[in-house]
Amino acid sequence: RKVIFSGIQPTGVPHLGNYLGALRQWVKLQDEAAPDTTLLYSIVDLHAITVKQDAKQLAQWRKEMLASLQAVGLRSDRSILFYQSSVPQHAELMWILSCNASMGYLGRMTQWKSKLALPDSASPLDSSPSNKSALKLGLFSYPVLQAADILLYNTTHVPVGEDQAQHLEFARELAISFNHTHAPQAEAPLLVPPTTILSPAKRVMSLSNPAKKMSKSDADVKSRILISDSKEEIRRKLRSALTDSIEGITYDRENRPGVSNLVNLIYYMDESVGASPEMLAQDMQGLSMKALKEKAVETVEDRIRDVRERYEYYMRLPPSELGELAEGGGQRAQDIAKGTMKRVRTAMGMA
Ligand code: ATP
Ligand code: MG
Repeated sequence: RKVIFSGIQPTGVPHLGNYLGALRQWVKLQDEAAPDTTLLYSIVDLHAITVKQDAKQLAQWRKEMLASLQAVGLRSDRSILFYQSSVPQHAELMWILSCNASMGYLGRMTQWKSKLALPDSASPLDSSPSNKSALKLGLFSYPVLQAADILLYNTTHVPVGEDQAQHLEFARELAISFNHTHAPQAEAPLLVPPTTILSPAKRVMSLSNPAKKMSKSDADVKSRILISDSKEEIRRKLRSALTDSIEGITYDRENRPGVSNLVNLIYYMDESVGASPEMLAQDMQGLSMKALKEKAVETVEDRIRDVRERYEYYMRLPPSELGELAEGGGQRAQDIAKGTMKRVRTAMGMA
């Protein structure tokens, strides 16, 4: 039986990278799932606090994310939608896994480095004292919490964007080594090593710096298009997107990252436009940069309009109605989590 789990941080309204790299895939998996497949989609607020958050802002972002998940088409009668912090077993399993996780392996994860703007080659063990105190334990051990999120539900498949592939590999290896240590003879694995599902649009790049991925937490709001953006906002952001002054449109991610990102965006928002981003670029080769951007505006608007309208609808609901939905999800998630914790505790001599 399949169990699908994924999470998104309440760090702002989702952007097109989240939508194409994750959320749209989540909905597709939901709509195509066999009746006995379990789907869990979590708003991972415990991950959001690995960087400093303002309490009021976080409360608002949690609500916006719950509205967003429903706006893109996730249904609480089919998928378990819940706040991570409402299920205490995430933190509990994380502690137990922490006692099995290697510092050296965690040190090689690139995400905490990018959040601190350190080079990928940096190591926490040889960084300068100021770097060490800036690096919070939670940000460093974030992948262990992520592993706990996944392993708690006996997850078989995790749909994520490419930036998470390294963490998923970490979770897999942690499950395998945990099983080896605590249940070497067991017939069924104590913790299920998960498989990663990468969406075809693995990595949408920032509009203002196409060398970086589009992110909710990027300081530059023009670097991303939100699922709640009006057509005018979409146009304003796309017009200011960084491209180049080479004539004509070609698809060349290395030498023309900005242009290629726009071609990708058009292609993945509406795959009926061509057979591949390369073919689409060929069809559009005679367009000016201005015309390419306008085409992107029209395509994005066409595909995001319904999502935006549903988002506005859910944001207008009384807070209690939205809240109830997440509470129900939290209960259902806990029921599964308790079963896993019972097995883990028994295997470790803590039952
Ligand atoms: P933050 O900047 O706060 O980390 P984020 O935009 O990276 O926010 P997350 O909540 O960390 O979003 O990730 C949610 C999901 O979206 C993950 O599956 C991640 O792989 C995917 N994702 C994030 N950014 C992109 C992107 N630019 N392209 C494709 N997928 C993405
Ligand atoms: Mg992220």
